[in-house]
Amino acid sequence: MNEYDSNRIYDIVKKINYKKTSLLKETDCYVLNTCHIREKATDKVYHDIGRIKKEFKNKKKPIVVVTGCVAQAEGELLLNNEKYIDAIIGPQSYHDFNKVLLKIEKNNTKINSTEFEVIEKFDTLNFIKNSNTNVSSFLTIQEGCDKFCKFCVVPYTRGAEFSRSTEELIKETNDLVNNGAKEITLLGQNVNAYNFEGHKLSDLIYKISKIKKLERIRYTTSHPIDFTEDLIQAHKNLKKLMPLIHLPVQSGSNEILKKMNRKHTVEDYIDLILKLKKNNPAIEFSSDFIIGYPGETDKDFEATIKLMKEVRFINSYSFIFSPRPGTPAAKLEKVNNKVAKERLIYFQQIAEEIKMKYRKNLFNRNSLVMFENKSRRGNEFFGRDEYLNSVIVKSQQDLNGKIKLAKIINGNQSTLFGEIKDEINFNGFEEKKCQRLVS
Ligand code: SF4
Repeated sequence: MNEYDSNRIYDIVKKINYKKTSLLKETDCYVLNTCHIREKATDKVYHDIGRIKKEFKNKKKPIVVVTGCVAQAEGELLLNNEKYIDAIIGPQSYHDFNKVLLKIEKNNTKINSTEFEVIEKFDTLNFIKNSNTNVSSFLTIQEGCDKFCKFCVVPYTRGAEFSRSTEELIKETNDLVNNGAKEITLLGQNVNAYNFEGHKLSDLIYKISKIKKLERIRYTTSHPIDFTEDLIQAHKNLKKLMPLIHLPVQSGSNEILKKMNRKHTVEDYIDLILKLKKNNPAIEFSSDFIIGYPGETDKDFEATIKLMKEVRFINSYSFIFSPRPGTPAAKLEKVNNKVAKERLIYFQQIAEEIKMKYRKNLFNRNSLVMFENKSRRGNEFFGRDEYLNSVIVKSQQDLNGKIKLAKIINGNQSTLFGEIKDEINFNGFEEKKCQRLVS
């Protein structure tokens, strides 16, 4: 979501003639768009500002703006502690970016803009064309969260659940497709809670799937309790909807899920996975795990390992519990650090074994890969298969923006290496060839 927000901030500041630069020394305004989901985010802000100070020592300082969720959660503190910062802009008030910049340019004043103005934000953004030209683009459709998991800052930094209107989302998708996007990832902290005047996520997906030049649709991140039957059916009916579902579970223990206020049990989660698989056997899953949540016993941890082995997630993101200031879980007694570390190492070993086994199974098989860019090493192209696996192939033709059948030759934990098979005419693509994996 921060990537989407950064692009939109750029669309906004272009209106008052700011341009992007990759050279720090050229900068008149330095924007740090931050994420607060992990510990040390605030330290990173101070560290980055230290870097800018060094670069601009004895020179006129640039305007320094901190935006994103760290700005929302710790804005006042940052402004007080670090005088080099000129403005704090929360993730729900960045539509005011230009007003803030112009005020600072004129009055050299400090500004804290952290109101929850999500409706005003999207009302403003709807009049500013999304200029992103990536083959694979993000589109925020929903923000905020009403679930209040005890460890999470999102309900405090992004506010209550809010869904954008279907009409404006179709328009923005069309803009992105006209800019060259072939794939759109619909974003929301609780994306499957999307509901605009009764229109659900599946309704939106059906509507945008009608856009001819749009080849792939993804969405992230889902909450298991919002996974309704209509969305399960969409995975059966729509080829454009990619068969990888990111479905955070956080723990395999019902005791811990209850302590986290996750509102579902392990059994509910497995039932959902089985339902999805029954509807579309090609679906695979990725997930998030918190290891060493306060109160986690050996037995709870073993239950998480059991779940990992049962579902065989093709990708998982696991971290030791990190207390976020202001959340209920931050006050709880932490699991011994050494124990938590040992558990994480063991969990990640199992997760890697499962992942590597899955990846080796792809060798000598064909995958549909959408190519996103050319590597710096000459005629190599980078793309992603339907399961978001990174694939690199060599080719003399320009593959950018194209979807090709690639035979996977080998790979490692992060990348698969393949070679291009025949040219595929996507519009005339035969059903029998359109299996998720072609042997
Ligand atoms: S559902 Fe997700 S975004 Fe909402 S509080 Fe829980 S972890 Fe945070």
